[in-house]
Amino acid sequence: MKLSTKLIHAGIEPDPSTGAIMTPIYQTSTYVQSAPGVHKGYEYARSQNPTRSALESALAHIENGRHGLCFSSGVAATDAVLRLLVPGDEVIAANDMYGGTYRLFTKIFEKAGIRFHFVDMQEASAILPHINANTKLIWAETPTNPLMNIVDIAALAAIANQHKIMFCVDNTFASPYLQNPLDLGADLVLHSATKYLGGHSDVIHGCLVMKSDELREKLYFIQKACGAVPGPQDCFLVLRGLKTLHVRMDRHCSNGEAIAHWLRNHPKIGKVYWCGFEDHPGYAVAKKQMRGFGGMMSFTLKDDSVETAKKVLSSTKVFALAESLGGVESLINHPASMTHASIPREERLRNGLSDSLIRLSVGIEDADDLIEDLQQAIS
Ligand SMILES: *Cc1c(COP(=O)(O)O)cnc(C)c1O
Repeated sequence: MKLSTKLIHAGIEPDPSTGAIMTPIYQTSTYVQSAPGVHKGYEYARSQNPTRSALESALAHIENGRHGLCFSSGVAATDAVLRLLVPGDEVIAANDMYGGTYRLFTKIFEKAGIRFHFVDMQEASAILPHINANTKLIWAETPTNPLMNIVDIAALAAIANQHKIMFCVDNTFASPYLQNPLDLGADLVLHSATKYLGGHSDVIHGCLVMKSDELREKLYFIQKACGAVPGPQDCFLVLRGLKTLHVRMDRHCSNGEAIAHWLRNHPKIGKVYWCGFEDHPGYAVAKKQMRGFGGMMSFTLKDDSVETAKKVLSSTKVFALAESLGGVESLINHPASMTHASIPREERLRNGLSDSLIRLSVGIEDADDLIEDLQQAIS
């Protein structure tokens, strides 16, 4: 089955009791048993919920995995993966990634005795010097947030497999429509479904997808034991979002391409970070592992002052100034003070994330209106 068909049908059955074509929101905390221990596979809603099961199954199909697990946020899904580790274990993570992931790693799990190495992974071999007997997890994001760097998933997977290290890819930015890390050898895929999967800026949700039964059992135990599960209404919203992912992503990609090129030709714009440019250092890898380049990009102004950047950020009318990404509406964001404020300034600057960087999540409005809005904000 092709992805566009899977997005609408995979893992979804008409409701067995009524035939409802849309998965009902099973708003219940518990399930009646006919005798102690005799039930239909549902005991208590932290452990199992039919709306959640439908979504978990759909996600597994869409990412070409065998199992999906849903969480109350992307961060909760990340937290579940890190809970597989024990004090003394080490993690190699990208040096340019989502601020909330960095915060969770350094402020929560470092205290719990996990050691992190933050590495520029654009050359996969750069992780080699950091591997030792304690290395238990490699964590990558691609394209990275907010600098749109590309890492080679297959090359990292080869190294991870050779050293028997678990490899997790945060696939939030690309979405399963553009990239499937499990096909390239990753063990785990993470999504903040808050973004493209939900797609309508109306839900906080996270998920993991994997092939291994053993890994699924361990993570299911954590999901149930720690309890960061999403409610059924939130699962319903993500299920509904999935059904239009392909149509939305096509427009995100075409609008993204139009805006990236327009920005690049604008006399007041400095550098544009978008992985679809042929001279982007990761272009060849992006072309190999992705089916499109998406609607996420960042840029700086030639007048590289924070004040000028802030003026642009406050002047757009169609682009809303807000954190988050991946919704139908276009957003503009200042990583240094918003999404990435939890990363220390020196660390940010060292990784190329300047105070004047502006990030766009290009939505699915008309590209001409978006360009006109940026034009008036920049001029
Ligand atoms: C938003 C985001 C997360 C965290 O997800 P939440 O749903 O906000 O908890 C993780 N990774 C990336 C790349 C994100 O953009």
